[in-house]
Amino acid sequence: MSAVTDSPGGSVQWRMNVSFETLQHSADAKKILILTDENIYSLHGEKFSGYPCIRIIAGESNKTQGTVDGIIAEMLELNIDKSWLLLGVGGGVVTDIAGYVASVYKRGIQLGLVPTTILAMTDAAIGGKNGVNVGNYKNMVGTTYRPKFILYDYSFLDTLPRSEWINGFAEIIKHACIKDAEMFADLEQHSIDGYIDNRPALVELVEKNIAIKNDVVINDEFETGERYQLNFGHTFGHAIENLYSLPHGHAISIGMVIAAGISEKLSGLSPDASKRISLLLEQYHLPATMSIDREKVVDALKKDKKRAGDRINFVLLDRIGEASVQLVSFESLSELLVQTTS
Ligand code: ADP
Ligand code: ZN
Repeated sequence: MSAVTDSPGGSVQWRMNVSFETLQHSADAKKILILTDENIYSLHGEKFSGYPCIRIIAGESNKTQGTVDGIIAEMLELNIDKSWLLLGVGGGVVTDIAGYVASVYKRGIQLGLVPTTILAMTDAAIGGKNGVNVGNYKNMVGTTYRPKFILYDYSFLDTLPRSEWINGFAEIIKHACIKDAEMFADLEQHSIDGYIDNRPALVELVEKNIAIKNDVVINDEFETGERYQLNFGHTFGHAIENLYSLPHGHAISIGMVIAAGISEKLSGLSPDASKRISLLLEQYHLPATMSIDREKVVDALKKDKKRAGDRINFVLLDRIGEASVQLVSFESLSELLVQTTS
């Protein structure tokens, strides 16, 4: 696919819009072990026949070291050695765990990814970051490990629940906010149902989002600058996600509305732009308002792994399609939160 350039090192093979059955063409490794979750296995298991398959219980709460240990025990039992490729087929939970396991098992075996959710297709599977949660702390342990290939088979989306489509569009809207005013305007002209029913339009949108994420990652592999912008909406989002056990997309939707409000004060985002962001989120069935306990939220912020002393790097929007990062103290964030959410 021309819109997507390769990663540094030049080794990720992008297999766009192909059928899962073409898997053999993706891997030079002959032996493939599939890692997926129970839901995907029960819906798409027939695609995996002929391959050994490890299944994990679905859900973010299973993205833990315990699950990783269980997978590794099964791999040892199956006599998996370094000549095998581990193929993660699933949403962000599966692709993150697969990346982590592949990077540490026998000090590293080959990895392939088949993302099956909108979120994994446009975000989680791209960029090589993986990890598991430790208690409430997201992705506290993990590695950066590049897959050999990423295969996109959109037929997996035929079974994706609507709630997961909505979740995934939060990251798409995030990409539009920080990088692509034109895509933002396009999204305003469409709807979730429009994309569910129009596969070519969806494919085009997903490919645009892959290009956005991949470009940011390539420009900044070690997250010294530009990549940090991908955290737009995620500082408050993660805090809210943990405190209120919200789906990730819903939490970052609220996080983006808060960050837009703060951007009005700190980086000159126009109130009109801020309003458009809230409206677009609501148009995609994401929440734009929520009553929160501000003190608890700011306390939770202080546990963010990106904290720098009593300040945190906070992603602001200068305008739709353009983000910047400022070091902001917890004290100011707390005040700004009062001003923007009351
Ligand atoms: P995310 O990509 O949002 O991080 P998860 O890995 O937690 O996602 O997946 C979200 C949920 O959607 C899980 O319950 C998972 O089993 C389910 N799921 C993932 N892909 C599909 C699919 N293609 N069809 C149906 N359910 C799916
Ligand atoms: Zn996210």
